[in-house]
Amino acid sequence: MTVTRFAPSPTGRLHLGHAYSAVVGRAAGDQLRLRIEDLDQTRSRPEFVAGIEEDLRWLGFSWDGEVLVQSERGAVYAAALERLRQDGLVYPCFCTRADIAAALAAPHGLAAHYPGTCRGLADDPAQRAVTPHSWRLDSAKAIERVGLPSWREGEATFTASRDDIGDEILARKDAPAAYHLACVVDDAESGVTLVVRGVDLRSSTPVQRLLQTLLGLPEPAYLHHALVTHADGRRLAKRDLAPTLAALREDGVDGPALARDLATGLLPSGFRLGDA
Ligand code: GLU
Repeated sequence: MTVTRFAPSPTGRLHLGHAYSAVVGRAAGDQLRLRIEDLDQTRSRPEFVAGIEEDLRWLGFSWDGEVLVQSERGAVYAAALERLRQDGLVYPCFCTRADIAAALAAPHGLAAHYPGTCRGLADDPAQRAVTPHSWRLDSAKAIERVGLPSWREGEATFTASRDDIGDEILARKDAPAAYHLACVVDDAESGVTLVVRGVDLRSSTPVQRLLQTLLGLPEPAYLHHALVTHADGRRLAKRDLAPTLAALREDGVDGPALARDLATGLLPSGFRLGDA
């Protein structure tokens, strides 16, 4: 049995791109799980959580099992982080967002990954008195221990290169888990066997596969689908007023008919699918 999931962040109303992702996820699986990725408490709003369920129902969707809400799962993420810490694979990071932005602005363009400024500071007494801003994966140590991760996508198997994986943030001062850690813990909790998401998240897959291996979690397969764009190729973004599903409904669009069209790759006029 193939179990997929739809995992929106409740930071706005769902738009066409979300609907496409949900449609592809449903078509690819026997069961679809719904997860609310609301760890960013500064941007998540309860009315958007309600909106997600309302919009999915309008499309004619139901989901299997309980809705998994990330903000309720702090203790589970803390246990996973602790396990990695016990294994010596986590270090505290004292850099602020501004420090990181400055560090990434390398002379030859933007560096892909955090340069590891705080790696090795853990035992520095001056730093120990200060609360870290975040906790990071020591990716060099992790890869030394379990090797570079691979993942399955369709018929193909990909192996990550060393450059694909940085010292990613696993948790923050104000959040028990960051995206990658919460994502792998929750995909396992929900028994997800096929992770379906946009191609913009493909760069997340190497580190997530690494975390799955380190935490002894099962390995799902992956499907990274093309993104819905405007007809001129511009990406849908909330701020440029991508039509929300709520607005389409108000315009009298038929939800289940839209879902059927999206399933065959047919998009409303003014939109198209980008390259996968
Ligand atoms: N919450 C993410 C988003 O709304 C999706 C994460 C995922 O599918 O892994 O873009």
